Amino acid sequence: MSLSTKLVNAGRKKRYTQGAVNSIIQRASSLVFDTIEAKKEAAENRTKGALFYGRRGTLTHFALQDAMIEIEGGVGCYLFPCGAAAIANAILAFVKSGDHILVSEAAYEPTQEFCQHILKDFGVETDYFSPLIGRYISQQIKPNTKVVFLESPSSITMEVHDVPAIVKAIRSVNPNIVIMMDNTWGAGVLFKALEHDIDISIQAGTKYLVGHSDAMIGTAVANERCWDTLRERCYLMGQMCDADTAYMAARGLRTLAIRLKQHHESGIKVAQWLADHPKVATVNHPALKSCKGHEFFIRDFTGASGLFSFVLKEHLSDVQLSDFLDNLTYFSMAYSWGGFESLILANQPEELAKIRPISGVNFTGTLIRLHIGLEDPDDLIADLAAGLNRIKLHKNKVNALQTLV
Ligand SMILES: *Cc1c(COP(=O)(O)O)cnc(C)c1O
Repeated sequence: MSLSTKLVNAGRKKRYTQGAVNSIIQRASSLVFDTIEAKKEAAENRTKGALFYGRRGTLTHFALQDAMIEIEGGVGCYLFPCGAAAIANAILAFVKSGDHILVSEAAYEPTQEFCQHILKDFGVETDYFSPLIGRYISQQIKPNTKVVFLESPSSITMEVHDVPAIVKAIRSVNPNIVIMMDNTWGAGVLFKALEHDIDISIQAGTKYLVGHSDAMIGTAVANERCWDTLRERCYLMGQMCDADTAYMAARGLRTLAIRLKQHHESGIKVAQWLADHPKVATVNHPALKSCKGHEFFIRDFTGASGLFSFVLKEHLSDVQLSDFLDNLTYFSMAYSWGGFESLILANQPEELAKIRPISGVNFTGTLIRLHIGLEDPDDLIADLAAGLNRIKLHKNKVNALQTLV
């Protein structure tokens, strides 16, 4: 079945839709048993789709969970109140005091902070690896390494991992290590994490699944080996999302293929335009050769989403940043991404270097992260062109020449 057909139909069983097109929204804490026998049966099947108690989910949650495993593979999908909860709880489900984990140094900043603060306090040690480490990850595995956490493309700087090389190297040292990936950028469809022998594919469903910047949810799809542990431990940690949000995520799935197609096309168009702009040093878009790991993107992904970044030749002052960003027409300044609208954020290299504990950064200009939404890309290009034009370069100062890798 093609992806678009699958996304339209996933999870829409009669049991969940009850005669409508979409699943019903079943809001519940208590779920009522008519007889002692029914209660016994529900308890026995509480992890296999029986209605048992609100925290185990209702028909609305089951519809989304079924849809997610149809789309991403695996045997189960746990739902969380947001992406950060999915990441923290998935890791917590597989570690104990004295363990060691490996995390990409270019993972989402709160993921790194969770490791540095909370895991550290619980006696779990984190080491970081370069997103471009490939098979050399085997050298960082210790006897007590329990989890390896990937994120590809990387947060903000967009490096793409060589996932097959990383996974093969880990499995050859210790096949029991749980490999997780933050798969938000690819929305669980542009990169098939479970087919690459990753155990758990995590998404901030807040981004492309919901797709309209109006709800937060996290998903973690697990293979057979990890599902029972993930489910039972996250359940004990009280993880759940409300039925309305689960509904919003399932509704978002119906248009995901066509939205991603547009994000892909428009994102590449804007990225290519930026690559030729005289004020731009380099563009970090996985589909462009200038992006580190581009060859792995071409080999392993089926398309691009709308998020990428570019580096300016100049390190902009606050005044210059205001010239550029305060008066854009279509780009809003905001965290998050994955909605229908375009967003823009600036990052200074010295700030970014702090969240790249191994490699730092190899550029000196200001980095701009874009989410290309569903507007006409020519309007977006005109908006960026006008903004870049408003930046007045300092006189009597030669721009630092960039080393483009
Ligand atoms: C946004 C984001 C998260 C966190 O998701 P929330 O729903 O905001 O908690 C995790 N990983 C990545 C890559 C993200 O972009």
